[in-house]
Amino acid sequence: MELSTGKIDYAAARVLITGAHGMVGSALRERLPSTSNIICLSSSNVDLTNRYRTFEMIRFFKPQYVIHLAAKVGGVKANSDFLADFYTKNICMNTNILDACHESGVEKVVSMLSTCVYPDDAEYPLVESAIHDGPPHPSNYAYAYAKRMIDIQSKAYRDQHGDNFVTIVPNNLYGAHDYFDLENSHVIPGMIRKIHEAKLNGTKVTLWGDGSPLREFTYSKDLAEIVLFVLEEYNGREPINVGCTDEYSIKEVAELTASYLEYDEGIEWDTSKPKGQYKKPSSNENFCKVVNDANKTLEYATLADGLKEMCQWFQAAYPNIRGY
Ligand code: NAP
Repeated sequence: MELSTGKIDYAAARVLITGAHGMVGSALRERLPSTSNIICLSSSNVDLTNRYRTFEMIRFFKPQYVIHLAAKVGGVKANSDFLADFYTKNICMNTNILDACHESGVEKVVSMLSTCVYPDDAEYPLVESAIHDGPPHPSNYAYAYAKRMIDIQSKAYRDQHGDNFVTIVPNNLYGAHDYFDLENSHVIPGMIRKIHEAKLNGTKVTLWGDGSPLREFTYSKDLAEIVLFVLEEYNGREPINVGCTDEYSIKEVAELTASYLEYDEGIEWDTSKPKGQYKKPSSNENFCKVVNDANKTLEYATLADGLKEMCQWFQAAYPNIRGY
């Protein structure tokens, strides 16, 4: 999918990307020219929970645009086990980066929320105006409230100072350079690693839950295109849902993954483990309108194509993967 409208010349613009070595950041780096004006930061360059270092870094680079991807991210179990870490680290990173971008007069900041921040008891499909309408799912409330505050903080800076801080709300993402920890990863990377290792060890694989929940999945390369499009074209005050809205059951994803990894020993489901919300379809009507207005077309990678590419990447990279 190619969404850029050419409004920003990436060979010349000073774009700073936080979390640039994570999954989405890696897809973005591959998509952008590798020139010195594109500043790609990881936590080893600067810990964004450190306010002093964050301000120092933004003052030093003086970016025109900031794509803020850095976050403490994890799956259902990590979110439940490390509530305080998820809350404090994300609140600190977001507060510091937006405050520093304001101080240095950054022209535009694009930050990420997530569909998992929506209220647990929501009407479907999820629409942007409902983000703050009720408590999030108890399993991830700390991450969810911290992420919701990026919306509040971005609006507050816009309303008080006129800062062009925008936020997007992606659904479940997957792709190369994901985090593959066995206990604390998202569903797709966790599944890929478990199935791959079961195949290597000649054992039978057991996955969490019962496979019934439905989820929307967006390939990281498509999200990278979307992020650049938003940087170029979307200047709204409201957060905007983005991503492919086709729904797949976790069981379907597992079966596809097993076939791409050529694992045919069958999958067992451990129903004692958390499985998360049953479903959370999102509406991307607002985003489709912005895309149409720019005379562009959304053509997402199918889950089959994206997953196949991710499995191939994983097999080639293993065991040099994040979270090993
Ligand atoms: P990711 O792979 O975990 O990457 C996040 C990056 O943030 C990491 O590479 C990490 O850098 C950096 N980071 C963490 N703590 C930091 C700190 N204290 N200081 C500086 N950098 C820090 O995450 P992702 O999946 O690419 O997600 C990107 C964004 O999309 C996040 O904001 C996330 O909330 C959002 N999102 C993700 C999903 C999903 O399914 N993955 C869904 C919706 C929204 P190092 O690796 O260098 O430590």
